[in-house]
Amino acid sequence: RPRALSGIQPTAGSFHLGNYLGAIRQYVALQETHDAFYMVVDLHAITVPQDPATLRANTRLAAAQLLAAGLDPDRCTLFVQSHVPEHAQLGWVMNCLTGFGEASRMTQFKDKSAKQGADRSTVGLFTYPILQVADILLYQADAVPVGEDQRQHIELTRDLAERFNSRFGGTFTIPAPHIVREVAKIYDLQDPTAKMSKSAATPKGLVNLLDEPSVSAKKFRSAVTDTDTVIRFDETDKPGVSNLLTIHSALTGTTVAALEESYAGKGYGALKTDLAEIFVAWVTPFRERTQEYLGDPETLDSVLAKGAEKARAVAAETLATAYDRIGLLPAK
Ligand code: ATP
Ligand code: MG
Repeated sequence: RPRALSGIQPTAGSFHLGNYLGAIRQYVALQETHDAFYMVVDLHAITVPQDPATLRANTRLAAAQLLAAGLDPDRCTLFVQSHVPEHAQLGWVMNCLTGFGEASRMTQFKDKSAKQGADRSTVGLFTYPILQVADILLYQADAVPVGEDQRQHIELTRDLAERFNSRFGGTFTIPAPHIVREVAKIYDLQDPTAKMSKSAATPKGLVNLLDEPSVSAKKFRSAVTDTDTVIRFDETDKPGVSNLLTIHSALTGTTVAALEESYAGKGYGALKTDLAEIFVAWVTPFRERTQEYLGDPETLDSVLAKGAEKARAVAAETLATAYDRIGLLPAK
C-alpha cells in the first residue's frame, strides 16, 4: 500500500469547514487505499503563542474531531506530533539543508507573520515549513492530503528530499500533494476571495464545526454574494455564489451542474437557506460524536498512545538511516 501522511493544528479548538472539506475528508477516504498516518501537529501550534492548558485541551479536542469525522484507529495511525520526538530531530537536519532565501519565499510565513506583526513573529514560524518537510519524509509518504494553501510546502518537501537523496544517497520517498481541486480552497463567507481561515478578519465568515449549529446557519444565510441574481458557478465574477455551490455540492454529492439546473429561476435566498439546513443536518451528528470521544479521555489517550507507538517505529527507522547517511557518529 502507498503511504499517506498529513497533520492538522490544534490551535483554534474547533476545526472549520475549510479544514474538513479541504483536508479531513480526504484523510478519511485515504484510509481505505493507503497506509495512512495522521497527526495533531502541536509542535506547529506553538509557532504562535499558546496558553498551555488550552493547547493541551485543544490537542485532545482535535483528536476527538478527527475520530468524529471518520478516522478509524484500526485503519489508520492517529497520533500527536510531540509524542514522536523524531519530528523535531529530523526537522533540525532539514533546517540545515534549506537555504535561507528558499525559506524566505514561503508565502504562508509572509502571510502569517504579517498578521502577527513582523517583530512579534518567531523563528519557529519562519522554519515551520521545514518541520513539515520532516513530518512528511519521516514516514516515506507518497501522498499528502492538504488544501491548496499547502502546495508550496509540499514542493519544498520534494526539493529537500531530492537534495538529500542526491547528496547522501537515496533515503526519502518523494511525496506528491493529494489536493482535490473542487474543495482545495473553501472561501470565507463574508469575503469570498479570502481563504476560510481560523484567523479570519471577522468571525461571521468562518464556519466552525463545533459552534452552535444555529450560529453557523445564520452565517450561511447572511453569506456575501453579488448584485446579480443568477445562481451560476463563476469563480471570477461570482465568487460568493460559487463558494456556496462548492460547499453544497461537497456536502450533498450533487454536481455543481445539477445544482445550477435545480436552482434555475430561484433566488440566492433559497440557496442560502437550503445550504444552512444541509450543513446543520451534517454537523449535528458530528458534534455529538465529538462530545462522545471527549467524554472518554482514557480511550482517547490510549488511541493516541497506540498511534504514537506505531508512528515511532516508522519514524525511528527513517531517522536512523538519515543520521547515518549524513555521517553522525552512532552512540554506542
Ligand atoms: P491557519 O490559518 O492557522 O494556518 P488553517 O485554518 O489553515 O489555520 P491548518 O491546521 O493550518 O488550519 O490546516 C489544516 C488543513 O486544512 C491543511 O491541509 C490546509 O491546507 C487545510 N485548509 C485550511 N483552510 C482551508 C480552506 N479554506 N479550504 C480548504 N482547505 C483548507
Ligand atoms: Mg494553515
